[in-house]
Amino acid sequence: MKALVYEGTRRVRLREVAEPEIGPGEVLVHVDRAGVCGSDLGLFRDGMATAAPPLVPGHEFGGRLDDGSFVVVNPMVGCGDCAACAAGRTNLCRQRRLIGYTRAGAFAERVSVPWRNLVPAPGLTPTQAALVEPLANGVHGWNRAGRPEGAVAIIGAGAIGMCLLQVLVARGLSDITVVDPVPARLDLALAAGARTVLPRLSGSFEAVFDAAGTGATRTDAVKCTAFGGTVALLGLHDDRLPASAASLIVGDRSLAGCFGYTEPEFVEAVELAAQVDAPWAQDVPLEDAQAAIDELIAGRGPAARIKTLIRFAA
Ligand SMILES: [Zn+2]
Ligand SMILES: [Zn+2]
Repeated sequence: MKALVYEGTRRVRLREVAEPEIGPGEVLVHVDRAGVCGSDLGLFRDGMATAAPPLVPGHEFGGRLDDGSFVVVNPMVGCGDCAACAAGRTNLCRQRRLIGYTRAGAFAERVSVPWRNLVPAPGLTPTQAALVEPLANGVHGWNRAGRPEGAVAIIGAGAIGMCLLQVLVARGLSDITVVDPVPARLDLALAAGARTVLPRLSGSFEAVFDAAGTGATRTDAVKCTAFGGTVALLGLHDDRLPASAASLIVGDRSLAGCFGYTEPEFVEAVELAAQVDAPWAQDVPLEDAQAAIDELIAGRGPAARIKTLIRFAA
């Protein structure tokens, strides 16, 4: 079968590879569309201790089982044994494995996955299915921020920011500000339901979601969170957190780190995905995928294609 293989720093190649082995408790999925994630690009650019080449990446995907039924796959594989797993919080399992990082992923025509990680998705389009995983990140962020319903802001209109926007719109929020330095992205955010768009954050919000994750955006996020509000950190661009402790304490502000999603949040994202229309997520056919990934690694992807989906099925 054909697969895109991460072979080392800045080297992803379209190759003929062996069919996946189907282990106990696993099932074969014929991949339809698979999304290229920011963390995939981080892996391709800088490597990752837990994801050794050669590796087939890809953790955002839907596809068909042998019987033709359409499914989405939760890429977080918990140990199944610890307190976090028992609570469905596989994002916090210390032994969790991640499809596309610590085991072969979906940048291939077929992938073997634990059947426990399948979620039936008969009503979703292939694009909606590939967006479930980043949408689940959005559901988790909204929950971690205490499900705010008033004025909120999202910093960063990349894929996570746009998915979060879709989650907030679907949950009935109407006063959403989106911040990004790229005008083309702000246009897409307006079309997707943002009320206000800004090149840099100002104002006061019940919650600020930082999907960019630089020292500067975290400082802005804390500053623009109302007293009693929540600063939700999703983006991981760099590691700095230059926030004022006094402004958190005196303002009664909460700081929420947001990583991944729980199993129930992933299922919630499958339901929510059915309402999502995302012109900013665009397909690339498999034969062009290697060139498209090279472009993304170099930071030269088209501005209007916020999420690149690789098309494996016709
Ligand atoms: Zn992802
Ligand atoms: Zn566990």
